[in-house]
Amino acid sequence: MGRTRPASSGERRWKLWSLPRRALVYVLLVELLAAVAVVATTAWPVPDGSWTAFAVLAGCAALHLHCSRWIERVRRDHSHLPHVDLCSIWIVAGALVLPPVLAVAHTALIYLHRWWVVGRWDTSRPPHRCVFTTAMMVLATLAASTVAGVTGLRDRLRAGEPGTVLDLVGLVGAGTAQWLVNTALVAAVILLTVRPRSVKDSIGSAGDNLLEAGQLALGGFVALAVAWSPLFALPMVVAAVALHRTVLIHQLELAARTDTKTGLLNAEAWHLQARLELQRTHRRPPGAAVGVCMIDVDHFKDINDTHGHQTGDVVLRRMAEALERAVRRGDSVGRFGGEEFAVLLPDVRPDEARAVAERMRAEVHRVRVDDGAGGTVGGLTVSIGVAVWPEVAEDTLEGLLAAADSALYDAKRLGRDQVRAAGEHRPPHRPPAVRVQRPVPGV
Ligand code: GH3
Ligand code: MG
Ligand code: MG
Repeated sequence: MGRTRPASSGERRWKLWSLPRRALVYVLLVELLAAVAVVATTAWPVPDGSWTAFAVLAGCAALHLHCSRWIERVRRDHSHLPHVDLCSIWIVAGALVLPPVLAVAHTALIYLHRWWVVGRWDTSRPPHRCVFTTAMMVLATLAASTVAGVTGLRDRLRAGEPGTVLDLVGLVGAGTAQWLVNTALVAAVILLTVRPRSVKDSIGSAGDNLLEAGQLALGGFVALAVAWSPLFALPMVVAAVALHRTVLIHQLELAARTDTKTGLLNAEAWHLQARLELQRTHRRPPGAAVGVCMIDVDHFKDINDTHGHQTGDVVLRRMAEALERAVRRGDSVGRFGGEEFAVLLPDVRPDEARAVAERMRAEVHRVRVDDGAGGTVGGLTVSIGVAVWPEVAEDTLEGLLAAADSALYDAKRLGRDQVRAAGEHRPPHRPPAVRVQRPVPGV
Protein backbone atom coordinates (compact mmCIF):
# COMPACT_ATOMS: atom_id res chain seq x y z
CA MET A 1 0.00 0.00 0.00
CA GLY A 2 1.99 1.05 2.10
CA ARG A 3 -0.16 0.38 5.02
CA THR A 4 -1.29 3.58 6.65
CA ARG A 5 -3.80 4.10 9.40
CA PRO A 6 -7.46 4.19 8.41
CA ALA A 7 -8.77 7.72 8.97
CA SER A 8 -11.46 6.39 11.23
CA SER A 9 -9.62 4.16 13.66
CA GLY A 10 -12.04 5.43 16.24
CA GLU A 11 -10.38 8.73 16.96
CA ARG A 12 -10.81 12.22 15.65
CA ARG A 13 -7.97 13.63 17.71
CA TRP A 14 -5.10 12.80 15.43
CA LYS A 15 -3.95 16.39 15.69
CA LEU A 16 -0.23 16.33 16.34
CA TRP A 17 -0.18 18.22 19.64
CA SER A 18 -3.26 16.52 21.01
CA LEU A 19 -1.73 13.06 20.66
CA PRO A 20 -1.03 11.17 23.87
CA ARG A 21 2.49 12.10 24.99
CA ARG A 22 3.97 8.65 24.24
CA ALA A 23 2.48 8.70 20.76
CA LEU A 24 3.79 12.21 20.13
CA VAL A 25 7.31 11.18 21.18
CA TYR A 26 7.06 8.11 18.96
CA VAL A 27 5.89 10.07 15.91
CA LEU A 28 8.64 12.67 16.31
CA LEU A 29 11.27 9.94 16.82
CA VAL A 30 10.21 8.10 13.67
CA GLU A 31 10.39 11.36 11.71
CA LEU A 32 13.81 12.19 13.16
CA LEU A 33 15.11 8.70 12.40
CA ALA A 34 13.87 8.99 8.82
CA ALA A 35 15.56 12.39 8.42
CA VAL A 36 18.86 11.04 9.77
CA ALA A 37 18.61 7.98 7.52
CA VAL A 38 17.99 10.15 4.47
CA VAL A 39 21.10 12.21 5.24
CA ALA A 40 23.09 8.98 5.70
CA THR A 41 22.05 7.70 2.24
CA THR A 42 23.94 10.56 0.59
CA ALA A 43 27.15 8.70 1.50
CA TRP A 44 26.37 6.09 -1.20
CA PRO A 45 27.37 6.90 -4.79
CA VAL A 46 24.82 7.24 -7.57
CA PRO A 47 25.99 4.96 -10.42
CA ASP A 48 25.50 5.90 -14.08
CA GLY A 49 22.12 5.01 -15.46
CA SER A 50 20.38 5.32 -12.09
CA TRP A 51 18.78 8.64 -13.04
CA THR A 52 17.04 7.08 -16.04
CA ALA A 53 15.60 4.30 -13.86
CA PHE A 54 14.60 6.92 -11.26
CA ALA A 55 12.83 9.06 -13.89
CA VAL A 56 10.96 6.08 -15.34
CA LEU A 57 9.84 4.76 -11.96
CA ALA A 58 8.80 8.21 -10.72
CA GLY A 59 6.93 8.73 -14.01
CA CYS A 60 5.12 5.39 -13.67
CA ALA A 61 4.13 6.14 -10.06
CA ALA A 62 2.89 9.61 -11.06
CA LEU A 63 0.90 8.19 -13.97
CA HIS A 64 -0.62 5.53 -11.71
CA LEU A 65 -1.72 8.17 -9.20
CA HIS A 66 -3.01 10.46 -11.94
CA CYS A 67 -5.13 7.66 -13.44
CA SER A 68 -6.44 6.56 -10.04
CA ARG A 69 -7.01 9.96 -8.41
CA TRP A 70 -10.80 9.55 -8.65
CA ILE A 71 -10.48 6.23 -6.77
CA GLU A 72 -8.57 7.98 -4.01
CA ARG A 73 -11.18 10.72 -3.85
CA VAL A 74 -14.02 8.20 -3.54
CA ARG A 75 -12.02 6.53 -0.82
CA ARG A 76 -11.55 9.86 0.94
CA ASP A 77 -15.34 10.32 0.95
CA HIS A 78 -15.61 6.90 2.66
CA SER A 79 -12.91 7.58 5.21
CA HIS A 80 -13.92 4.54 7.29
CA LEU A 81 -12.51 2.28 4.57
CA PRO A 82 -8.96 1.00 5.04
CA HIS A 83 -6.48 3.18 3.21
CA VAL A 84 -5.11 1.30 0.22
CA ASP A 85 -2.96 3.36 -2.14
CA LEU A 86 -0.95 0.63 -3.93
CA CYS A 87 2.25 2.72 -3.84
CA SER A 88 4.26 -0.29 -2.64
CA ILE A 89 4.63 -1.55 -6.21
CA TRP A 90 6.76 1.47 -7.13
CA ILE A 91 8.42 1.85 -3.75
CA VAL A 92 9.82 -1.67 -3.61
CA ALA A 93 10.87 -1.48 -7.27
CA GLY A 94 12.80 1.69 -6.43
CA ALA A 95 14.38 0.06 -3.39
CA LEU A 96 15.55 -2.87 -5.53
CA VAL A 97 17.10 -1.03 -8.46
CA LEU A 98 17.94 2.50 -7.30
CA PRO A 99 20.82 3.53 -5.05
CA PRO A 100 19.55 4.30 -1.50
CA VAL A 101 19.52 8.07 -1.92
CA LEU A 102 17.40 7.92 -5.07
CA ALA A 103 15.18 5.17 -3.59
CA VAL A 104 14.22 7.40 -0.64
CA ALA A 105 13.85 10.45 -2.90
CA HIS A 106 11.51 8.36 -5.08
CA THR A 107 9.40 7.35 -2.06
CA ALA A 108 9.26 10.94 -0.77
CA LEU A 109 8.25 12.18 -4.22
CA ILE A 110 5.41 9.63 -4.40
CA TYR A 111 3.99 10.79 -1.07
CA LEU A 112 4.46 14.48 -1.90
CA HIS A 113 2.54 13.94 -5.13
CA ARG A 114 -0.17 12.02 -3.26
CA TRP A 115 -0.52 14.82 -0.75
CA TRP A 116 -0.84 17.36 -3.57
CA VAL A 117 -3.47 15.38 -5.49
CA VAL A 118 -5.48 13.85 -2.62
CA GLY A 119 -4.17 14.60 0.88
CA ARG A 120 -4.43 18.37 0.94
CA TRP A 121 -8.20 18.17 0.39
CA ASP A 122 -8.67 15.50 3.03
CA THR A 123 -9.59 17.08 6.36
CA SER A 124 -9.25 13.73 8.17
CA ARG A 125 -5.54 13.71 7.27
CA PRO A 126 -3.79 16.87 8.40
CA PRO A 127 -0.35 17.51 6.82
CA HIS A 128 1.58 16.07 9.77
CA ARG A 129 -0.05 12.69 9.09
CA CYS A 130 1.30 12.80 5.57
CA VAL A 131 4.74 13.68 6.94
CA PHE A 132 4.57 10.74 9.33
CA THR A 133 3.40 8.35 6.59
CA THR A 134 6.28 9.53 4.38
CA ALA A 135 8.76 9.03 7.22
CA MET A 136 7.46 5.48 7.80
CA MET A 137 7.67 4.62 4.13
CA VAL A 138 11.17 6.10 3.84
CA LEU A 139 12.29 3.76 6.64
CA ALA A 140 10.51 0.81 5.00
CA THR A 141 12.21 1.68 1.68
CA LEU A 142 15.58 1.73 3.37
CA ALA A 143 14.95 -1.66 4.95
CA ALA A 144 14.21 -3.15 1.49
CA SER A 145 17.12 -1.26 -0.07
CA THR A 146 19.52 -2.58 2.58
CA VAL A 147 18.51 -6.18 1.90
CA ALA A 148 18.87 -5.63 -1.87
CA GLY A 149 22.33 -4.14 -1.28
CA VAL A 150 23.59 -6.72 1.22
CA THR A 151 22.51 -9.71 -0.88
CA GLY A 152 24.13 -8.16 -3.95
CA LEU A 153 20.81 -8.26 -5.78
CA ARG A 154 20.92 -4.59 -6.78
CA ASP A 155 24.39 -4.87 -8.31
CA ARG A 156 23.48 -8.00 -10.27
CA LEU A 157 20.25 -6.40 -11.53
CA ARG A 158 22.24 -3.39 -12.66
CA ALA A 159 24.84 -5.58 -14.35
CA GLY A 160 22.07 -7.53 -16.13
CA GLU A 161 23.37 -10.86 -14.83
CA PRO A 162 21.02 -13.87 -14.93
CA GLY A 163 19.19 -14.40 -11.65
CA THR A 164 20.12 -17.12 -9.17
CA VAL A 165 18.30 -18.70 -6.25
CA LEU A 166 20.17 -16.26 -4.00
CA ASP A 167 18.66 -13.37 -5.98
CA LEU A 168 15.20 -14.80 -5.39
CA VAL A 169 16.00 -14.90 -1.67
CA GLY A 170 17.16 -11.27 -1.91
CA LEU A 171 13.96 -10.29 -3.74
CA VAL A 172 11.68 -11.97 -1.20
CA GLY A 173 13.84 -10.70 1.68
CA ALA A 174 13.66 -7.10 0.45
CA GLY A 175 9.87 -7.26 0.12
CA THR A 176 9.58 -8.88 3.54
CA ALA A 177 11.80 -6.21 5.12
CA GLN A 178 9.65 -3.44 3.62
CA TRP A 179 6.47 -5.14 4.83
CA LEU A 180 7.86 -5.80 8.33
CA VAL A 181 9.08 -2.25 8.92
CA ASN A 182 5.89 -0.70 7.51
CA THR A 183 3.62 -3.00 9.51
CA ALA A 184 5.54 -2.61 12.77
CA LEU A 185 5.63 1.19 12.53
CA VAL A 186 1.90 1.40 11.76
CA ALA A 187 0.98 -1.11 14.49
CA ALA A 188 2.98 0.86 17.06
CA VAL A 189 1.29 4.17 16.28
CA ILE A 190 -2.14 2.52 16.41
CA LEU A 191 -1.32 0.94 19.77
CA LEU A 192 -0.16 4.29 21.11
CA THR A 193 -3.09 6.36 19.87
CA VAL A 194 -6.16 4.14 20.11
CA ARG A 195 -6.92 0.91 21.88
CA PRO A 196 -7.25 -1.49 18.92
CA ARG A 197 -10.07 -3.99 19.17
CA SER A 198 -8.02 -6.83 17.76
CA VAL A 199 -4.65 -7.75 16.31
CA LYS A 200 -6.32 -7.30 12.92
CA ASP A 201 -6.94 -3.64 13.73
CA SER A 202 -3.25 -3.03 14.28
CA ILE A 203 -1.55 -5.25 11.70
CA GLY A 204 -4.34 -5.42 9.11
CA SER A 205 -6.49 -8.37 8.04
CA ALA A 206 -5.14 -11.39 6.17
CA GLY A 207 -6.68 -9.87 3.03
CA ASP A 208 -4.89 -6.53 3.56
CA ASN A 209 -1.59 -8.31 4.00
CA LEU A 210 -2.15 -10.52 0.98
CA LEU A 211 -2.80 -7.40 -1.06
CA GLU A 212 0.42 -5.89 0.28
CA ALA A 213 2.32 -9.07 -0.61
CA GLY A 214 0.80 -8.93 -4.10
CA GLN A 215 2.03 -5.37 -4.55
CA LEU A 216 5.51 -6.32 -3.39
CA ALA A 217 5.55 -9.21 -5.86
CA LEU A 218 4.46 -6.90 -8.69
CA GLY A 219 7.13 -4.43 -7.56
CA GLY A 220 9.73 -7.20 -7.93
CA PHE A 221 8.68 -7.67 -11.55
CA VAL A 222 8.79 -3.93 -12.17
CA ALA A 223 12.38 -3.98 -10.87
CA LEU A 224 13.26 -6.82 -13.27
CA ALA A 225 11.66 -4.90 -16.14
CA VAL A 226 13.52 -1.69 -15.26
CA ALA A 227 16.82 -3.58 -15.02
CA TRP A 228 16.24 -5.08 -18.46
CA SER A 229 14.99 -1.89 -20.10
CA PRO A 230 13.38 0.89 -17.99
CA LEU A 231 10.46 1.64 -20.32
CA PHE A 232 9.23 -1.95 -19.86
CA ALA A 233 7.89 -0.86 -16.46
CA LEU A 234 5.17 1.20 -18.17
CA PRO A 235 2.64 -1.61 -18.79
CA MET A 236 2.60 -2.24 -15.05
CA VAL A 237 0.81 1.12 -14.63
CA VAL A 238 -2.24 -0.50 -16.27
CA ALA A 239 -2.04 -3.44 -13.85
CA ALA A 240 -1.69 -1.07 -10.88
CA VAL A 241 -4.72 1.04 -11.89
CA ALA A 242 -6.82 -2.07 -12.55
CA LEU A 243 -5.87 -3.57 -9.18
CA HIS A 244 -6.56 -0.26 -7.43
CA ARG A 245 -10.03 -0.10 -8.96
CA THR A 246 -10.84 -3.70 -8.04
CA VAL A 247 -9.75 -3.15 -4.46
CA LEU A 248 -11.97 -0.09 -4.13
CA ILE A 249 -15.02 -1.90 -5.53
CA HIS A 250 -14.43 -4.76 -3.11
CA GLN A 251 -14.10 -2.30 -0.21
CA LEU A 252 -17.32 -0.52 -1.16
CA GLU A 253 -19.16 -3.85 -1.44
CA LEU A 254 -17.92 -4.78 2.00
CA ALA A 255 -18.86 -1.38 3.41
CA ALA A 256 -22.38 -1.74 1.99
CA ARG A 257 -22.80 -4.98 3.99
CA THR A 258 -21.31 -3.75 7.22
CA ASP A 259 -22.81 -1.91 10.17
CA THR A 260 -20.26 0.83 10.76
CA LYS A 261 -20.90 1.14 14.49
CA THR A 262 -20.27 -2.50 15.36
CA GLY A 263 -18.54 -4.02 12.34
CA LEU A 264 -21.27 -6.69 12.19
CA LEU A 265 -23.42 -7.46 9.17
CA ASN A 266 -26.07 -4.78 8.72
CA ALA A 267 -29.76 -5.69 8.68
CA GLU A 268 -30.02 -5.97 4.86
CA ALA A 269 -26.96 -8.18 4.53
CA TRP A 270 -28.07 -10.38 7.43
CA HIS A 271 -31.55 -10.82 5.92
CA LEU A 272 -30.06 -11.75 2.57
CA GLN A 273 -27.77 -14.31 4.15
CA ALA A 274 -30.56 -15.73 6.33
CA ARG A 275 -32.95 -16.04 3.40
CA LEU A 276 -30.35 -17.94 1.35
CA GLU A 277 -29.56 -20.23 4.27
CA LEU A 278 -33.23 -20.99 4.81
CA GLN A 279 -33.71 -21.80 1.11
CA ARG A 280 -30.64 -24.05 1.23
CA THR A 281 -31.95 -25.84 4.30
CA HIS A 282 -35.38 -26.40 2.72
CA ARG A 283 -33.71 -28.16 -0.22
CA ARG A 284 -31.72 -30.47 2.05
CA PRO A 285 -32.83 -33.92 3.34
CA PRO A 286 -35.19 -34.30 6.31
CA GLY A 287 -33.42 -33.55 9.57
CA ALA A 288 -31.73 -30.38 8.31
CA ALA A 289 -32.42 -27.39 10.50
CA VAL A 290 -31.71 -23.68 10.80
CA GLY A 291 -32.16 -21.37 13.78
CA VAL A 292 -32.36 -17.67 14.51
CA CYS A 293 -31.83 -15.73 17.73
CA MET A 294 -33.24 -12.27 18.33
CA ILE A 295 -31.31 -10.38 20.98
CA ASP A 296 -32.26 -7.14 22.70
CA VAL A 297 -30.08 -5.40 25.25
CA ASP A 298 -31.91 -4.89 28.53
CA HIS A 299 -32.46 -1.32 29.72
CA PHE A 300 -30.05 0.10 27.19
CA LYS A 301 -31.64 3.52 27.45
CA ASP A 302 -30.35 3.70 31.05
CA ILE A 303 -26.79 3.33 29.78
CA ASN A 304 -27.20 6.27 27.43
CA ASP A 305 -28.92 8.31 30.12
CA THR A 306 -26.28 7.56 32.74
CA HIS A 307 -23.04 7.41 30.75
CA GLY A 308 -23.87 9.26 27.54
CA HIS A 309 -24.48 8.15 23.95
CA GLN A 310 -20.81 7.82 23.07
CA THR A 311 -20.27 5.30 25.84
CA GLY A 312 -23.50 3.63 24.66
CA ASP A 313 -21.91 3.26 21.24
CA VAL A 314 -18.78 1.69 22.72
CA VAL A 315 -20.99 -0.70 24.70
CA LEU A 316 -22.73 -1.72 21.46
CA ARG A 317 -19.35 -2.42 19.89
CA ARG A 318 -18.17 -4.49 22.84
CA MET A 319 -21.48 -6.36 22.89
CA ALA A 320 -21.06 -7.18 19.21
CA GLU A 321 -17.60 -8.59 19.99
CA ALA A 322 -19.01 -10.60 22.89
CA LEU A 323 -21.72 -12.10 20.66
CA GLU A 324 -19.18 -13.00 18.00
CA ARG A 325 -17.00 -14.71 20.59
CA ALA A 326 -19.92 -16.82 21.77
CA VAL A 327 -21.31 -18.09 18.46
CA ARG A 328 -20.05 -21.09 16.49
CA ARG A 329 -17.89 -20.77 13.41
CA GLY A 330 -20.26 -20.24 10.47
CA ASP A 331 -22.97 -18.50 12.50
CA SER A 332 -23.72 -14.93 11.36
CA VAL A 333 -24.28 -12.09 13.78
CA GLY A 334 -26.03 -8.98 12.49
CA ARG A 335 -27.16 -5.70 13.96
CA PHE A 336 -30.83 -5.11 13.31
CA GLY A 337 -30.74 -1.52 14.43
CA GLY A 338 -30.60 0.26 17.78
CA GLU A 339 -29.64 -2.23 20.48
CA GLU A 340 -31.06 -5.25 18.71
CA PHE A 341 -29.04 -8.05 17.17
CA ALA A 342 -29.88 -11.21 15.26
CA VAL A 343 -27.91 -14.42 14.89
CA LEU A 344 -28.31 -16.96 12.13
CA LEU A 345 -27.51 -20.51 13.21
CA PRO A 346 -27.19 -22.87 10.23
CA ASP A 347 -27.37 -26.62 10.87
CA VAL A 348 -28.40 -26.42 14.48
CA ARG A 349 -30.42 -28.60 16.85
CA PRO A 350 -32.83 -26.82 19.21
CA ASP A 351 -30.71 -27.71 22.28
CA GLU A 352 -27.56 -26.47 20.50
CA ALA A 353 -29.29 -23.20 19.57
CA ARG A 354 -30.24 -22.69 23.16
CA ALA A 355 -26.69 -23.45 24.30
CA VAL A 356 -25.31 -20.84 21.89
CA ALA A 357 -27.85 -18.31 23.18
CA GLU A 358 -26.84 -19.04 26.79
CA ARG A 359 -23.18 -18.61 25.85
CA MET A 360 -23.99 -15.22 24.35
CA ARG A 361 -25.84 -14.18 27.48
CA ALA A 362 -22.91 -15.26 29.66
CA GLU A 363 -20.37 -13.50 27.41
CA VAL A 364 -22.36 -10.26 27.58
CA HIS A 365 -22.29 -10.47 31.40
CA ARG A 366 -18.51 -10.19 31.20
CA VAL A 367 -18.47 -6.96 29.16
CA ARG A 368 -17.04 -3.96 31.02
CA VAL A 369 -16.70 -0.52 29.50
CA ASP A 370 -14.91 2.43 31.00
CA ASP A 371 -16.97 5.58 30.36
CA GLY A 372 -13.93 7.85 30.46
CA ALA A 373 -15.40 9.88 33.34
CA GLY A 374 -14.60 7.62 36.25
CA GLY A 375 -17.55 5.30 35.67
CA THR A 376 -17.77 1.72 34.49
CA VAL A 377 -20.60 0.13 32.58
CA GLY A 378 -20.99 -3.47 33.65
CA GLY A 379 -23.62 -5.96 34.72
CA LEU A 380 -25.00 -5.86 31.19
CA THR A 381 -27.74 -8.28 30.29
CA VAL A 382 -29.63 -9.32 27.18
CA SER A 383 -32.91 -11.03 26.51
CA ILE A 384 -32.85 -13.62 23.76
CA GLY A 385 -35.57 -15.32 21.77
CA VAL A 386 -34.67 -18.48 19.80
CA ALA A 387 -36.57 -20.19 17.00
CA VAL A 388 -35.40 -23.26 15.07
CA TRP A 389 -36.96 -24.54 11.86
CA PRO A 390 -38.52 -27.15 11.53
CA GLU A 391 -39.25 -27.38 15.27
CA VAL A 392 -41.09 -24.13 14.70
CA ALA A 393 -43.24 -24.85 11.67
CA GLU A 394 -42.70 -21.38 10.12
CA ASP A 395 -40.88 -21.94 6.86
CA THR A 396 -40.36 -18.32 5.83
CA LEU A 397 -37.70 -16.07 7.31
CA GLU A 398 -40.36 -13.58 8.37
CA GLY A 399 -42.26 -16.34 10.19
CA LEU A 400 -39.14 -17.63 11.91
CA LEU A 401 -38.13 -14.13 12.97
CA ALA A 402 -41.63 -13.42 14.27
CA ALA A 403 -41.45 -16.62 16.38
CA ALA A 404 -38.03 -15.62 17.76
CA ASP A 405 -39.29 -12.10 18.39
CA SER A 406 -42.27 -13.39 20.29
CA ALA A 407 -39.96 -15.58 22.43
CA LEU A 408 -37.81 -12.48 23.04
CA TYR A 409 -40.89 -10.61 24.14
CA ASP A 410 -41.59 -13.45 26.63
CA ALA A 411 -38.03 -13.19 27.92
CA LYS A 412 -38.53 -9.46 28.52
CA ARG A 413 -41.88 -9.96 30.16
CA LEU A 414 -40.56 -12.69 32.43
CA GLY A 415 -37.83 -10.50 33.90
CA ARG A 416 -35.15 -10.05 31.17
CA ASP A 417 -31.60 -11.53 31.27
CA GLN A 418 -32.79 -14.87 29.94
CA VAL A 419 -33.18 -17.07 26.91
CA ARG A 420 -36.59 -18.22 25.72
CA ALA A 421 -37.28 -20.62 22.89
CA ALA A 422 -40.27 -20.24 20.59
CA GLY A 423 -43.08 -22.53 21.69
CA GLU A 424 -41.58 -23.09 25.15
CA HIS A 425 -44.20 -22.98 27.88
CA ARG A 426 -43.98 -20.09 30.28
CA PRO A 427 -42.41 -20.33 33.75
CA PRO A 428 -43.60 -18.15 36.61
CA HIS A 429 -42.74 -14.46 36.55
CA ARG A 430 -39.30 -13.42 37.92
CA PRO A 431 -38.41 -10.02 39.35
CA PRO A 432 -36.36 -7.83 36.98
CA ALA A 433 -32.59 -8.38 36.99
CA VAL A 434 -30.15 -5.77 38.33
CA ARG A 435 -29.16 -3.53 35.47
CA VAL A 436 -26.44 -1.00 34.93
CA GLN A 437 -23.71 -0.31 37.46
CA ARG A 438 -23.85 3.40 38.23
CA PRO A 439 -20.54 5.23 37.85
CA VAL A 440 -18.51 5.10 40.99
CA PRO A 441 -16.36 8.22 41.30
CA GLY A 442 -12.69 7.34 41.16
CA VAL A 443 -13.24 3.78 39.86
P1 GH3 B 1 -35.68 -2.92 27.26
O1 GH3 B 1 -35.04 -3.71 28.32
O2 GH3 B 1 -37.17 -2.89 27.38
O3 GH3 B 1 -35.24 -3.32 25.90
O4 GH3 B 1 -35.23 -1.41 27.51
P2 GH3 B 1 -34.35 -0.51 26.58
O5 GH3 B 1 -34.02 0.73 27.34
O6 GH3 B 1 -33.20 -1.27 26.06
O7 GH3 B 1 -35.31 -0.27 25.34
P3 GH3 B 1 -35.79 1.01 24.59
O8 GH3 B 1 -36.33 0.51 23.28
O9 GH3 B 1 -36.71 1.82 25.46
O10 GH3 B 1 -34.49 1.86 24.34
C1 GH3 B 1 -33.56 1.53 23.41
C2 GH3 B 1 -32.52 2.60 23.48
O11 GH3 B 1 -31.45 2.32 22.59
C3 GH3 B 1 -33.06 3.96 23.08
C4 GH3 B 1 -32.03 4.54 22.15
O12 GH3 B 1 -31.61 5.80 22.60
C5 GH3 B 1 -30.87 3.57 22.26
N1 GH3 B 1 -30.15 3.43 21.02
C6 GH3 B 1 -30.63 2.99 19.83
N2 GH3 B 1 -29.64 2.98 18.91
C7 GH3 B 1 -28.54 3.46 19.53
C8 GH3 B 1 -27.20 3.69 19.09
O13 GH3 B 1 -26.83 3.46 17.95
N3 GH3 B 1 -26.33 4.18 20.01
C9 GH3 B 1 -26.70 4.45 21.28
N4 GH3 B 1 -25.78 4.92 22.12
N5 GH3 B 1 -27.95 4.24 21.72
C10 GH3 B 1 -28.86 3.75 20.86
MG1 MG C 1 -35.02 -2.64 21.60
MG1 MG D 1 -33.52 -2.97 24.86
